[in-house]
Amino acid sequence: MTSDKGLLIVLSGPSGVGKGTVRKAIFDDPDTTFKYSISMTTRRQRDGEVDGVDYFFKTKEEFESLIEQDKFIEYAEYVGNYYGTPIDYVVETMENGHDVFLEIEVEGAKQVREKFPEALFIFLAPPNLAQLEERLIGRGTDSMEVIKHRITEAKRELKLMNLYDYVVINEDVQQAKGRVQCIVEASHMRRARV
Ligand code: 5GP
Repeated sequence: MTSDKGLLIVLSGPSGVGKGTVRKAIFDDPDTTFKYSISMTTRRQRDGEVDGVDYFFKTKEEFESLIEQDKFIEYAEYVGNYYGTPIDYVVETMENGHDVFLEIEVEGAKQVREKFPEALFIFLAPPNLAQLEERLIGRGTDSMEVIKHRITEAKRELKLMNLYDYVVINEDVQQAKGRVQCIVEASHMRRARV
């Protein structure tokens, strides 16, 4: 029996590993059929970011009110800010038969695992820790204090990769993009056989 419901795809991994870049490469590809779930956050909007495209930017009060209303599949406090996945979009889109793609940090991915055990969990890993540190410093979007905090988080997050269905090493963005797409395709074939 095949399921008409879409698949929930979770791409996670440490900050600075390039999840956002791989995600953009996936959605720049006209062959991609997944729908991207735009997260909500209370962190400040960076230059070039668009509200409703990159994130839905919210105040702490707005975010906490949505938590109370149970409006998130998952949410996490990360480096002093909230990040969360709005539930309505994900559930409706999957019910309509589309795959939904989340790009989130590891605490949130753990919560998704509890609520949607059948989701597909992919961990994006750096080739090594030194490269991750270079990337965090090189992208120049955060203060040194925030970068140090992100590196500490990344070391903790790397230990969790064994809990995932697949690990993709991000040596090259196009290669990582292709691997994620192959994993999703293979998962569909597997589901079709059940
Ligand atoms: P950034 O501030 O660099 O945009 O994101 C910081 C971290 O938050 C990244 O690891 C990113 O993947 C993660 N993130 C983005 N959206 C969500 C979300 O909805 N939930 C969770 N748990 N993490 C998120």
